[in-house]
Amino acid sequence: MIWTNWARNVSAAPVRQEQPASEDELSDAVRRAVKEGHTVRVVGGGHSFMPAAATDGVQLNLDHLNALHRLERDADTGHALVTVGAGMRLHQLNQVLAERGLAMQNLGDIDQQSIAGAISTGTHGTGARFGGLATRVRALTVMGPDGEVTRATPTERHDLFEASRLGLGATGVLSTVTIEAIPAFDLHAVEEPWPLDRVLEGLDDLVADTDHFEFYWFPTTRRALTLRNTRVDAGTSAGSGLGHRVRKVAGAARSFLDEEVLSNGLFETVNRIATAVPAATPTLNAVSARALSARRYTAPSHEVYCTNRRVRFREMEYAVPRAAVVEVLNELDAWQRSTGENVPFPVEVRFAPADDVWLSTAYGRETAYVAVHQYWRLPYARYFDAAEQIFTAAGGRPHWGKMHSCDADYLAGQYRRFPDFRRVRDAADPEGVFANPYTQRVFG
Ligand SMILES: Cc1cc2nc3c(=O)[nH]c(=O)nc-3n(C[C@H](O)[C@H](O)[C@H](O)COP(=O)(O)OP(=O)(O)OC[C@H]3O[C@@H](n4cnc5c(N)ncnc54)[C@H](O)[C@@H]3O)c2cc1C
Repeated sequence: MIWTNWARNVSAAPVRQEQPASEDELSDAVRRAVKEGHTVRVVGGGHSFMPAAATDGVQLNLDHLNALHRLERDADTGHALVTVGAGMRLHQLNQVLAERGLAMQNLGDIDQQSIAGAISTGTHGTGARFGGLATRVRALTVMGPDGEVTRATPTERHDLFEASRLGLGATGVLSTVTIEAIPAFDLHAVEEPWPLDRVLEGLDDLVADTDHFEFYWFPTTRRALTLRNTRVDAGTSAGSGLGHRVRKVAGAARSFLDEEVLSNGLFETVNRIATAVPAATPTLNAVSARALSARRYTAPSHEVYCTNRRVRFREMEYAVPRAAVVEVLNELDAWQRSTGENVPFPVEVRFAPADDVWLSTAYGRETAYVAVHQYWRLPYARYFDAAEQIFTAAGGRPHWGKMHSCDADYLAGQYRRFPDFRRVRDAADPEGVFANPYTQRVFG
């Protein structure tokens, strides 16, 4: 069989793909693969742009390990702890939580990933006070090459916990994930086109004063599309007489980024024109950046965070020190202007607090995420190479699931706990059963 990822830039020919329906079947699949001398990789939603889940050994798909196992209260904090099968997709998890009056604290901009795939690559959203998904993990069960499961928490097998909650599956197969959820809430979304200079000049306040701030910027224009999401009580969207209408608008029209820019047929058409007639791209970008109108709505948090992406693209995203982001954007702008590169996709800028997850791209520092995208039918190498030079010169750390060319030498210099991660990985998987060329490149 040939396996291909969402972006269609990675494919692999595993000897077989297996879809265990229980932990026992998972254990059998791992043992069988090891006995036959195959390596093992798990694939979640296949939404990584890197060959993270690629293998010529056995590829395990955990779509059937997607049950809700437990919902309990933390004895010390009283917080809700939700244990689910590691293959559960985020849209399923959001539903399971919503039905119980709960929600994820923060999310990225789609919900197609599996919870294990999302945490394993450091998937994040935006917000100066709200870290990536791995920061919300409170326990894991990790299956080793012997098919045995080990429970790891911050206090029990602490090092295995740290290396496994964000480690590309290199320490073993995650079979369950326990997440700390919070009471359900709504988000009030304000989406407005602003002059880029207004955004950059007021950036510190915007990031500090908004629960979830992000913006999109079309290269070579001085316009930005700003998204400011504020957390409000659950039910706000349904609380007034207007509630039903507001919800309907939110559901039907959603954000202009979703419906008008990033995912709809019009944007596909814009990209096709840009592909056929590169000289038209600056005009198209200027029109895209100006054509968008402001929009406000309130809806349950997961409905606001997550959108559909129907226009296929390639993406590179780096975490840079928060203080470096304006300089990084200026350099990207200068490169775009000097080369006239054909890029009909916007740059996305998001924010995160410092965290303590060993391999988190936000480990130990306040972070800005800068993502460059390219329409999948257009060449990306020159653009991404140039962007990567700018990002790495600023001490950037690549998203573990998005395109980059870093190796273990570079990454070891970026992560203080890199040696600890490797020690744990080597102990958990001495024979490299869970390795593939990508993990060998980035971890050594
Ligand atoms: C359209 C789109 C939008 C995106 N938006 C965002 C965003 O807003 N923020 C962000 O940070 N990222 C984003 N991403 C990146 C995406 O979140 C990550 O690449 C994520 O890993 C994808 O999850 P997945 O389930 O598809 O994992 P896969 O790509 O299938 O796998 C990722 C890694 O996890 C490992 N893995 C999966 N399951 C297990 C398991 N049970 N045990 C051990 N290892 C496992 C795999 O082996 C692999 O190494 C986006 C990607 C796309 C295509």
